[in-house]
Amino acid sequence: MSYTGSIPDTTTTPGWHMQALCAQPEYRGQQDELWFAPDRRAEAIEEAKRLCHLCPVRMACLRAEMAAEGNAGRDRRFGVRGGLTGGERHALHKELQRRKRLAEQTQDAA
Ligand code: SF4
Repeated sequence: MSYTGSIPDTTTTPGWHMQALCAQPEYRGQQDELWFAPDRRAEAIEEAKRLCHLCPVRMACLRAEMAAEGNAGRDRRFGVRGGLTGGERHALHKELQRRKRLAEQTQDAA
């Protein structure tokens, strides 16, 4: 299955994308090898996650990717974005949904 999500593009998109670590010259061309490495390449995925945690715009990236992915299932979330794998973002999405429902129930009961 091929990637259909978003890759920060420093050439056309203003704002936080300009500061994306993965889009800096030293990492250009390594998206497929690191941030979109196949699941079997655990070392590459860990290296991508490590780099994300050094990225100055990690939270903006994570928010943007989560918003773009919406309710997508685990199999429709590709690559490491914002320091999380697709599976981890899916788990985070589920947890946020659970908390939102709980907050709504609490509000209704009050
Ligand atoms: S958090 Fe990771 S994927 Fe997102 S812009 Fe930074 S280096 Fe790239």
